[in-house]
Amino acid sequence: MIQDETIHLKWMREALDFASISLREGEVPVGCVIVYCNRLVSYGYNQTNVTRNGTTHAEFEAIQLITDTFDSLLKTPSSKPSHAENLAEDDSQNYDLETRSFLDTLTQGNKPLQNPRLPPPSLPKILFQYINTARQQTSMNITPHILQPFYSKCTLYVTCEPCIMCAAALSLIGIGSVVYGCKNDRFGGNGSILSLHNAELSPVYPVYQTISGIMAEEAIAIFRQFYSRGNPHAPVPARPLVPIEKGSHIYYHPLDPVEQ
Ligand SMILES: [Zn+2]
Repeated sequence: MIQDETIHLKWMREALDFASISLREGEVPVGCVIVYCNRLVSYGYNQTNVTRNGTTHAEFEAIQLITDTFDSLLKTPSSKPSHAENLAEDDSQNYDLETRSFLDTLTQGNKPLQNPRLPPPSLPKILFQYINTARQQTSMNITPHILQPFYSKCTLYVTCEPCIMCAAALSLIGIGSVVYGCKNDRFGGNGSILSLHNAELSPVYPVYQTISGIMAEEAIAIFRQFYSRGNPHAPVPARPLVPIEKGSHIYYHPLDPVEQ
């Protein structure tokens, strides 16, 4: 677990930018990024309304982007893909510039994100190393767990505590750690309702560390913006929700729970 709070703040700011995109697009505003050894490898935001799919939470979107990129790399010839230079050739300054430019392209302006979504520049480079290792084995065995060593080095930054569904999924993929903003007192799976990171699924699935409360006030402020104008997708009759704050906890009344 990375202990440096400045790093947590850096990546949580990016997660908040993706929460802002979901707010702009009329979704319950939750955003996240996934970071591998302090390199951005994925991002996501809640899309349950646009997809009409209650599982498309920010965390699932971020995981899906990694899976899609992995699959597309698998289909490329065994030679090194043109966009997948060896990570060792990167220097950190180029990486920072490239990532900043990528994030600015996504989060600035009011354009909808490109679909299919573009992977961060680091993702194919890092995944290629794992694929190359698998290809060097006598029989390449692509199992659902092939990316566990990758995920074990990843930290998810998400603006709101993962719900029970996402917290279980993060255990299944073997995430290294989760850093989140505000608590999710109705559905939280990382301490509020269940503790799926801790012991609920062990020893079958790996546990992971969590840190809570990073930029919780900012995450709550985005929720407040969303609910102050009423959830346009709430069941009829739609009733504006009033977020009630208690420390880094957030409650919604009357009952029309936040989906994350
Ligand atoms: Zn969720």
